[in-house]
Amino acid sequence: MNDTCNCTPTTTGLKSYEEALELLLQHAVPVQEQETVPLGDALGRILAEPVRSTIDVPGWDNSAMDGYAVRVADVPEEGTRLKVSQHIPAGTAPEPLEPDTAARIFTGAPIPEGADAVVMQEQTSPRGDEVQIDTLPEPGANIRRAGEDIEAGSVIVEAGTRLQPQHLGLAASVGVGELTVKRPLKVAVLASGDELLMPGEPLKPGMIYNSNIFTVSGLLQAMGCEVIDMGQVADTLEATKEALAEAAERADLVIASGGVSVGEEDHVRPAVQALGSLDLWKIAIRPGKPLAFGHIGDTPFIGTPGNPVSLFVTFLLFARPFILKSLGLNEYRNRAIRTTAAFDWPRPDKRREFHRARLERGADGENIVEIYPSRSSAVLSSVTWANGLVILPENHVIRGGEPVEFMPFCELIGWGSA
Ligand code: AMP
Ligand code: MG
Repeated sequence: MNDTCNCTPTTTGLKSYEEALELLLQHAVPVQEQETVPLGDALGRILAEPVRSTIDVPGWDNSAMDGYAVRVADVPEEGTRLKVSQHIPAGTAPEPLEPDTAARIFTGAPIPEGADAVVMQEQTSPRGDEVQIDTLPEPGANIRRAGEDIEAGSVIVEAGTRLQPQHLGLAASVGVGELTVKRPLKVAVLASGDELLMPGEPLKPGMIYNSNIFTVSGLLQAMGCEVIDMGQVADTLEATKEALAEAAERADLVIASGGVSVGEEDHVRPAVQALGSLDLWKIAIRPGKPLAFGHIGDTPFIGTPGNPVSLFVTFLLFARPFILKSLGLNEYRNRAIRTTAAFDWPRPDKRREFHRARLERGADGENIVEIYPSRSSAVLSSVTWANGLVILPENHVIRGGEPVEFMPFCELIGWGSA
């Protein structure tokens, strides 16, 4: 049974997840520039203009079966025998059907003029140069009508669609050889922190490796963004301002990890304020309370927590929908599926938790979800153990067997849905 704990919520001053997301999305402006590319180069791009078919598909009435094309009026009763007057394999143009005859026809072949049904082979018996019709045909039976799948002039792929292989196949099937797509979004990434070393460098006391730059760049590349790597920025106001100004000049969006808290070593916040405007939102979620959003000149800026797990989660929850909308996609919101908890959550937080979790098959083949045993947001290996995030509502006890919402990484990482 779900029950609510009696702890008093003390999230005063914090924005809810929904409120923060809507605020962010209000500022996401889809890329306008577009280009025309050959169909073979369009995979993963975002369609800028709808694809219309100039032809009917199928282009003519054709047979859905191997069998015999007949005139229903020529088959008054079961057992009627008709002379086989022609053979129509796929890819040939038939003669009109002679009265009181049948035409041998194969799947996809054009229906001869005059025929109004196809009797499937299994409902016939060959009798020399005749065929016996064993089942009375209905008018229109086993005929695929011209334009039944696609009518000439109709939109077959909407603008704002991520072009998946099936969209390219569909466009090709109506003879479209090139598509007009959005230009990719350019995103500049930088990491702040004097403690950061690049992997490959020898570790020094007090230093840590810069993992965020790889996580963020990878997430962006997987979404089809063009990444501009601005590298690491020293913890001084001047260096941070300089790097941010250059990033904003070169990119459609700037993302910085770390340095957005209020400590003396956190220079990203004052630098963005000096160059434009910044809001620092404390959001009632775990992990990842602070998220910075603002503008450097006209260029939007997102500042994520430096903590690698918080960065990963806040990126997926907030930066991702913002970027998908900016890329020009119609579908940019994260989707969750409902599954079953294979864990107890007896001490809920007053903030909503997006906990690292694994979707598994239970003993009976049903979907269940397990959670990473630690709540610590410092454990980066937890995000490679997980295959998604389970949503644990605020102030809400969960018992094993109860329904929970789960956002699989296959929804949160990559192109997004069509
Ligand atoms: P900050 O948000 O700058 O206060 O950083 C919070 C924590 O995240 C600190 O422990 C930082 O050392 C760590 N951190 C910040 N940036 C990175 C990064 N690029 N890669 C890995 N850890 C980081
Ligand atoms: Mg820092």
